[in-house]
Amino acid sequence: MTNKNLLQISNLSKSFESSKGFFRKVKNEVKAVDGVSFEVKQGETLGIVGESGCGKSTTGRLIMRLIEGGKGKINFEGQDVQSLSTKDLRKLRRDIQMIFQDPYASLNPRHTVEKIIEEPLIVHKIGTKEERRKRVAEVMDVVGLSPYHLKRYPHQFSGGQRQRIGIARALVTNPKLIIADEPVSALDVSIQAQVLNLLKDIQVEFGLTYLFIAHDLGVVRHISDRVAVMYLGRIVEIAEVEELFENPKHPYTKALLSSVPVPDPTFEKQEIVLTGEIPSPSNPPSGCTFHTRCNSCMDICKAEKPVLQQIQSGHQVACHLF
Ligand code: SF4
Repeated sequence: MTNKNLLQISNLSKSFESSKGFFRKVKNEVKAVDGVSFEVKQGETLGIVGESGCGKSTTGRLIMRLIEGGKGKINFEGQDVQSLSTKDLRKLRRDIQMIFQDPYASLNPRHTVEKIIEEPLIVHKIGTKEERRKRVAEVMDVVGLSPYHLKRYPHQFSGGQRQRIGIARALVTNPKLIIADEPVSALDVSIQAQVLNLLKDIQVEFGLTYLFIAHDLGVVRHISDRVAVMYLGRIVEIAEVEELFENPKHPYTKALLSSVPVPDPTFEKQEIVLTGEIPSPSNPPSGCTFHTRCNSCMDICKAEKPVLQQIQSGHQVACHLF
């Protein structure tokens, strides 16, 4: 890993409009992502973790401009992603690829595996027919699929194999950054480990950088170098993986970690029970948006939004306790 930033996000925000009322005339603004900033260094894995609806998947899609209209800056290798022309955006999508949660839904059921994996090469006009055929065979081998799988269809594979097809397709254009959005959460636990290990192996082999989005802390810990914790569209804590898991600071991070089962039965861990539902992003609480569920809430928390600040090298927290 180098110290060079491959991706730099500054103050990224995205609101959606929702309508309610009898004639759906009352318009409401929902802040899905609210002032998110982070960087991803070349060769590292940054995990983004949080409950569903916290804005982590929207963040991933904004980076690829699969969702348009994001505010703030997205810088990839010195390019301002927000202002790229359609032609340059196509080139960016060759360098940044995505792996999705549900491999079955993201693979065209009427196409053979060969066609599915070859498709990004055709879209990006890479290689001759023969060169593409060779490249598809190469990535099939890398992800552990056999040549006889080429002419088969997605429904003929298990969930784990389908995710391998998804990984092969992401890998085929030789990208620099892979955004993996819950890539193992639809898989059995035993298969999850195999797919995570495959992702780690190809990261080393091809010098890949990952933005790894997941709700499962165990999965995030297994693969990440650094972890960002999101709550209601904002990053509340970010630190190196061991630091975050051994020395969490934000009350939300502590509550999330306390609910993860510990394999050692002699170790007694006190679970911090998170009371209440996640508030609706269309009507977020004032001040610190976590205050309605926080055991350490103070008066200031209801009035002032805490900013993300560095409490020690590489460890940032957004909380009035610090
Ligand atoms: Fe809890 Fe206040 Fe910190 Fe928010 S700012 S997490 S309410 S202590």
